[in-house]
Parts: sequence; structure tokens; C-alpha cells
Amino acid sequence: MSSATQGTDVAVIGAGIVGIAVAHALATRQGVARLVLLDPAEPMGLTSAQSGENYRNWWPHPVMRAFTDDAITLLEQFARDSGNRLRMTRRGYALATRRAAPEDLFAALARGYGEGADARIRFHDGAGAAYRPAASADWEAAPDGVDVLMGAALVRAHFPSYAADVETVLHIRRAGDISGQQMGAWMLERIRAAGGRVLRARVRGIGGGAPFALDLEGPEGRATLRADRIVNAAGPFLGDVAAMLGEELPVQNVFQQKIAFEDRAGAIPRAMPFSIDLDGQHIPWTEDERAELAADPAARHLTLPMPGGIHCRPEGGDGGSWVKLGWAYNRAPSYPRAEAPPMVPHFPDIVLRAAGRLNPALDAYVGRLPRGARHYGGHYTMTPENWPLIGPMRTPGAFMAGALSGYGTMAATATGALCAAWIADAPRPAHADLFTLARYDDPALIAALRADETKGVL
Ligand SMILES: Cc1cc2nc3c(=O)[nH]c(=O)nc-3n(C[C@H](O)[C@H](O)[C@H](O)COP(=O)(O)OP(=O)(O)OC[C@H]3O[C@@H](n4cnc5c(N)ncnc54)[C@H](O)[C@@H]3O)c2cc1C
Repeated sequence: MSSATQGTDVAVIGAGIVGIAVAHALATRQGVARLVLLDPAEPMGLTSAQSGENYRNWWPHPVMRAFTDDAITLLEQFARDSGNRLRMTRRGYALATRRAAPEDLFAALARGYGEGADARIRFHDGAGAAYRPAASADWEAAPDGVDVLMGAALVRAHFPSYAADVETVLHIRRAGDISGQQMGAWMLERIRAAGGRVLRARVRGIGGGAPFALDLEGPEGRATLRADRIVNAAGPFLGDVAAMLGEELPVQNVFQQKIAFEDRAGAIPRAMPFSIDLDGQHIPWTEDERAELAADPAARHLTLPMPGGIHCRPEGGDGGSWVKLGWAYNRAPSYPRAEAPPMVPHFPDIVLRAAGRLNPALDAYVGRLPRGARHYGGHYTMTPENWPLIGPMRTPGAFMAGALSGYGTMAATATGALCAAWIADAPRPAHADLFTLARYDDPALIAALRADETKGVL
């Protein structure tokens, strides 16, 4: 990088899946060829490298459902356009509970699907129309909507690995997984082919208004980049980049973890959908373990009732042998220091014990995690209501695309399209304003969103 001043139409700060998706939409949908993606590290190397890479159109609010439906439509288009470089699959999300006929869950489901929910949700009790399990992982062959399985016998017939006390399963059909890394690489190829550039540099400061003077630090020293417009897509550093403009954003970072390991015992059927235990639980510690944890102020919470949401899925397709487990129970914000992620050493033990409640065969791994198991994590960058921030910042010419919490891989496509439409002042979907800071002008909406217990956090 020379120290000379260079210029560009749009500078995107951050080359995670979100910044790349914004640049891709600018290049391919809005015809912006003079653009630069800035990142001090390898593209897709920070939060985007930690993603579980799952997608779903299941949300407690119809706006988020519509947004992710748009995102999945674009994911499907990318899968088609790339010859499925994305490795998109669609076995669905299976939400399990021990409650029989949980009317509150049914009502929440209907609320989330909004208009037309009745046609999308099918109830099965073993008597009427047959439930169609996922015959393959092929996303094009999978059904849409939601199948609700009622009764332990019906659940067991279709989900034999689940505990016998599961009474109800909500099977979300427009859901599955993709390779976020492959999608990022594919979009980067198209950005470069359209004339866009990736520059290895950290933005240290931002001077002026449009055009902005970005103070860059790269491997070859300092330089200035002039940009007519800028996009803040700095992931967990969204707030830090906003501060360079003298702005404050209502975001915090909460560290969440996962484990992945080879399922040598064959505990999880390869055709099992991404499965979530909706019920809260007490982790089944032994008496000694419980006493030890209760005596440690930092660990005492693990002896208290824990929230639902623990999840598990086979990893690597039908022929693979790995499984992934996660549980986003942490609520404590922390600053994202890449050199010292706040890993909880006991997390594998915690998640395994709790996951055995839905899939009891996983108990075989408690205290005996196979060699080569991975324990990793990253920050959910989120607003208190768990809705994203996409669109103009307060500074004219500055835009933001972030706060995508635990859903940025699946929502990157629609985020990129929406942010690019704001930048080019092109037509936008009806929910566009709700993802800008304008939503905070509606305290009743914000209060209602924050009152929702789960907020779609998974
Ligand atoms: C454990 C875990 C599991 C998840 N599972 C899923 C899932 O199953 N499905 C799903 O959809 N989502 C999931 N997510 C969420 C998803 O990974 C994130 O929402 C998404 O990766 C965020 O992308 P990003 O581009 O905003 O951030 P990042 O990937 O963090 O990218 C931001 C980039 O900005 C760069 N940057 C920061 N500051 C500067 C600066 N000053 N100058 C230049 N560059 C800068 C950084 O180096 C970084 O590369 C999960 C997240 C975690 C942590």
C-alpha cells in the first residue's frame, strides 16, 4: 500500500460475510464498480469463520421472517447460479418440546408467519394427512411451511434418536445449512470480476464528511483513502467504527460457543434435521459437581435453571461423520479481543450433558470427547431487540450493515441487497426503515420487541 492518497466511490469497512455481501450487491445489482473492501485480516476470518452456517425462516416476528425469507430466496438463487458452490441443504429445523399441544408455541408460530400462516402450518396427530419426512438433503425437493407433529408415538416414529418424553415437534421446512465460507469466496470472485478490490488494511480513523478520508494502516504502512461513501460492516467492531464518526450505536457483543466432533458412536442419525430442545432444564450434574459449581461465584449459574435452545446437527452431509452442538445461553456482553476470546473451558461438558436430554445417545461422550474435537466461539453483535442495523448512519454518506447476531450468515444476502439499495437510492422492501435507527423513534415497537422473551436468539 503506497502512502499516496487514492480514491474510490464506496469503501466497505470489514470483509466478513456481511461486508462482502454488501460489496457483491453493489457490484452485481447496482453497477458500482469502483469499490474497495478493507480488512486487516483474511476475508471471512473473524466472526464469519465461527458460524454454525444454519438458516431458517422461523422467527417470532413477521418482519424478521419476511427478511430471512428474502435472504433465503437469494441464497437459493446463489446456489443455482454457482452450481451449488454453497453446498446448500434443506433438512429443516426440528423444534422439540415435552409439552403436549403447546398452544403458546403454536400462536407464536402463526404470528411469525403472519398473513397466510394457516396455509403454511400443517398439524399431524397420526390420523389425518401423512407427515412427509425429509427424504434427502436436496433443497429443491424439500417442502415449504411447517409440520407440527403431535404425540410422543408419532414423534418417535420419525425422530427415533429423541428422548421418549418429547411430545411435540415443530418441523420448520425452509431451513438447513450452507457453507458460508464457500459463499464468501464465490461472492469475492464476482466482486473482483466486476472491478472491485480487496485491500489489506485497518481503518484507524475517518476524517471529513462525504468524501471521507480514511486513515489506513496496512502491511506497508499508513495511507489515506478518499471515499465518496463508506459502509460500516466491521462486525463486532461496528461500534468502534461508528465512534470514528462521532456516532454511538445501540449494540453490544455477547460471546457464544460451539463444539464439533466426530460422532464415532453414531449417536446422531445423519438425516436428523438441525434439532433444538426448546425446553429449559437443570443440567444433570452429579452431587459433587453441583456442590463444587455452587461454591464458585463464576460458575454458580450453571446449577440454576438454564434456558432452552440447545441445538445439535450432523455436519458434513449424509456421508460425513461429525456433529455440531451449540447453546447460546450466555447473556453477558464482553469486548471482542481476538487474541483472548472468553472461552469457557467447561463448555464442551456443559453442552454435552444438556444435549443428552434430547438425544440421550450423546451421553456416551460426557467426559469422553473424541480426540480432535473442536471448541470454538465468536461474538454475537446485537441490538437489545436482536434486529439488525442496515442503512444510513447519521453522518451523510455513511452506511451500516451489522448487528446480525447469530443470523448473519443466513441474512447476509438480503442485508447486502438492502444496504446496496440504500446506497444507490434504489427501491427497497417495506421493512427497510425498520432496520435503520428510525425504528428507535417508535418506543412502543421497541418495547414490544424487547418484551419478547427469546427475540429469536439461538
Ligand atoms: C458461535 C457462532 C455461531 C453462529 N451460527 C450462525 C448460524 O448458524 N447461522 C447464521 O446465519 N449465523 C450464525 N452466526 C452469526 C454469524 O456468524 C455472524 O452474524 C456473521 O458472521 C457476522 O458477519 P460480519 O461480516 O458482520 O462480521 P465479521 O465476520 O466479524 O467481519 C467483520 C470484519 O470487519 C473487520 N474489521 C473490524 N474493524 C475493522 C477496521 N477498523 N478496519 C477494517 N476492517 C475492520 C474484521 O477484521 C472482520 O473481518 C454465528 C455466530 C457465532 C459467533
